[in-house]
Amino acid sequence: MKDREHSITLIPGDGIGYEVSAAAQSCVDAIASLEGFIVIWDEQQAGGDAMREFGNVLPEKTLNSIRKSGVALKGPITTPIGKGFRSVNVELRQKLNLFANIRPAKSIVGASSRYSGIDIVVIRENTEDLYAGVGFEKGNGDTKQFINFVNKKRGTSITEDSAISLKIISSHASARIARFAFDYANQNARKKVTVVHKANILKYTDGLFLDVARRISRGHMSIEFDDAIVDNVSMQLVTKPENYDILLCPNLYGDILSDLCAGLIGGLGVAPSANIGEKCAVFEPVHGSAPKHEGKNDANPSATILSAAMMLKHIGEKKASARLEKAVLKTIREGKVVTYDLKPRKVSTTKEMTGEIIDNL
Ligand code: NAD
Repeated sequence: MKDREHSITLIPGDGIGYEVSAAAQSCVDAIASLEGFIVIWDEQQAGGDAMREFGNVLPEKTLNSIRKSGVALKGPITTPIGKGFRSVNVELRQKLNLFANIRPAKSIVGASSRYSGIDIVVIRENTEDLYAGVGFEKGNGDTKQFINFVNKKRGTSITEDSAISLKIISSHASARIARFAFDYANQNARKKVTVVHKANILKYTDGLFLDVARRISRGHMSIEFDDAIVDNVSMQLVTKPENYDILLCPNLYGDILSDLCAGLIGGLGVAPSANIGEKCAVFEPVHGSAPKHEGKNDANPSATILSAAMMLKHIGEKKASARLEKAVLKTIREGKVVTYDLKPRKVSTTKEMTGEIIDNL
């Protein structure tokens, strides 16, 4: 590969994914031509489309493309609730070992929000916790056996009409994400890491996550460290968000709190994210596929375009990344050509807003 030629896997996703990923792709192509580098896209399927075409929601071909390019831009993918296939998003993160999910929430002038001056980064462990995928369906033979085993060993009285999901927190994955959070703090001039947990109740699992984070923090004395219980953090985030800098979270709390943080800065339409592993990285908006908006050309493309800006920084195109981010922020600040969720006087479409961002590059 030539210098400044980048191979990137593109997974459009579904629902509004088709529209927002096309928007981000055209912004990346525009900034690449302005900054003089080349992007070679390899479009791959995942989710419902892949199921129809290959009989598999996450084909090996898609995974291999990301393994080869090392980086992907991804639109959101629908996960049927309570039935059908497991979340493709969760499976992708596990199969590629994308252990760290970075979700920055920074106030944007012009994005309608009750708050200003928010600057929080949620760093979420991405591979285990209740998302590890070890579940027992109600009434299944295995489930009954498992319930009998636990009742016998622990003297509990779990009834046979129960369903069970295992919360798995390992020492090594907790240490890996805690180290990542402190390294991120150092590299990005952040001052404080708060580890979020429920160790008062979940003594073994959350207690382990907390203990490991505490131990890792001792090697980073220049970064302030504290811990907070997840229910308390939820309240404090809406009353005193200025108290938080980096929130280091196990998977589930990170998922929930990052949506809360998106709400502090103007909603899911402006919240980007990165999934980082040792060998590859996948960039995607925090939001889902918003099926009600599919095909309406009204979704805000900013979250996916800002994720693409994070991706450009990751592949070393720092100037292009900063320029793309600046163009998105300018478009939102001016508020002349923006989508419905930013509550403008005149509502623009996804395509119109994307065109305005490209004009502002
Ligand atoms: P969602 O994020 O898709 O949408 C919730 C609401 O937020 C929408 O109805 C819409 O009003 C608003 N919204 C979201 N994105 C927007 C945008 N770009 N512009 C304007 N408004 C926007 O959440 P949901 O409805 O709970 O989930 C829908 C599907 O997406 C589910 O199947 C879920 O599993 C999946 N999901 C996927 C991902 C992912 O691919 N990483 C993440 C979250 C949810």
